[in-house]
Amino acid sequence: MKIHEYQARQLLSDAGIPVPPGQMVETIDAAVAETEKIFASGEGLVVIKAQVHAGGRGKAGFVKLVRSIEEAREAATFMLGNRMVSVQTGPEGIEVKRLLIAAGVDIEKEYYLAVTLDRRHGVNTLIASAEGGVEIETVAHDNPDAIYKVPIHPLSGLEAFQARGLAKRLGFQGRQIQQAATIMQRLASLYSSLDASIVEINPLIVTPPTEQAPDGRVIAIDAKFGFDDNALYRHPELKAMHDPAEENPAEIRAEEFGLSYVALDGTIGCLVNGAGLAMSTMDIVKLHGGEPANFLDVGGSATKESVTEAFRIILGDGRVNGVLVNIFGGIMRCDTIASAIVEAAKEVGFDVPLVVRLEGTEVDAARQILEDAKADIPSMQTAGNLAEAAAAVCDAVA
Ligand code: GDP
Ligand code: MN
Repeated sequence: MKIHEYQARQLLSDAGIPVPPGQMVETIDAAVAETEKIFASGEGLVVIKAQVHAGGRGKAGFVKLVRSIEEAREAATFMLGNRMVSVQTGPEGIEVKRLLIAAGVDIEKEYYLAVTLDRRHGVNTLIASAEGGVEIETVAHDNPDAIYKVPIHPLSGLEAFQARGLAKRLGFQGRQIQQAATIMQRLASLYSSLDASIVEINPLIVTPPTEQAPDGRVIAIDAKFGFDDNALYRHPELKAMHDPAEENPAEIRAEEFGLSYVALDGTIGCLVNGAGLAMSTMDIVKLHGGEPANFLDVGGSATKESVTEAFRIILGDGRVNGVLVNIFGGIMRCDTIASAIVEAAKEVGFDVPLVVRLEGTEVDAARQILEDAKADIPSMQTAGNLAEAAAAVCDAVA
């Protein structure tokens, strides 16, 4: 589960990590009112940020610095009225329903800081770079040496000496070192105590020097948190932060029926049992020049109802113009799938080409069911093996 930036900022702030004050709003008028409040408190700069579960907002024009009420109204109107298309969204973009209105800060330098699990070494790891900001993906790709990784001991956590050492290597100066090190340790504790899968601050910034803070201040101005769904039962406070509007409605419905479904951008709907078989089915579709519209694993214990729902979800996607069913019956019986196809055809109707390949438990009974239904489902053809099936469906949609 992911949460919004404004929620992550609250968690950071509760953990003692400095964050500029801000407020989430859902209307243009509320955005203007919050901006007025911040200006009234003596701040000259306000930042307006789209609250969506995707990054790359800055480059997409969905993070705006404003110095007047008029600019604030214009930015809020734009963000709430346009879909955001960034490198992290699909080409169709996502709707923006919430904004964060926060005090803007002057930036001397931007850093990157995150904690996540390093699967290769099997240990939670602090990741940091002095080249933080909107180009961090480019840095990771072109200059991986600029990214530091520090393993976190599972029992003792991130030690003070590790944090200070890293802060120095990153180039923090003077009093910044202790501030940055404290933030690192608190972020590492937060990651463990929340059962997070990632906690990311990008950018962590240093503000320009002032009289009160001659070395500047180290603060977080953006945060992305993700949590381990299997541990959410331990965190009702996090569960309460869930925003269903950010999720693909088809994926939510699939979850209710015990289906593993991930929507993709292609045109060929795939219904498969088993995650591995689903992956290889997608591969072979691509090999034959097609683009899968989804990943869908109906699992080993699928019923007629869940398979019918799976078809409903696939056919509910307007981009789908062909469907490939690839079932290897082990625990799953092929005749269950065959009956579900017939059922779904009655209920939802297949007005796009359907190619079915079945193998395994009760395959003969299944073939008979499909044979008997052929007259009722004219768009259906059966295939003897996977390669043949993939070729047939790619041909049908071409
Ligand atoms: P992201 O693009 O979705 O990661 O959104 P961020 O919140 O990280 O904002 C993108 C960039 O906007 C940051 O890297 C900063 O350079 C800039 N930015 C965001 N907030 C502020 C702010 O308060 N003051 C200044 N000067 N720049 C900001
Ligand atoms: Mn960011």
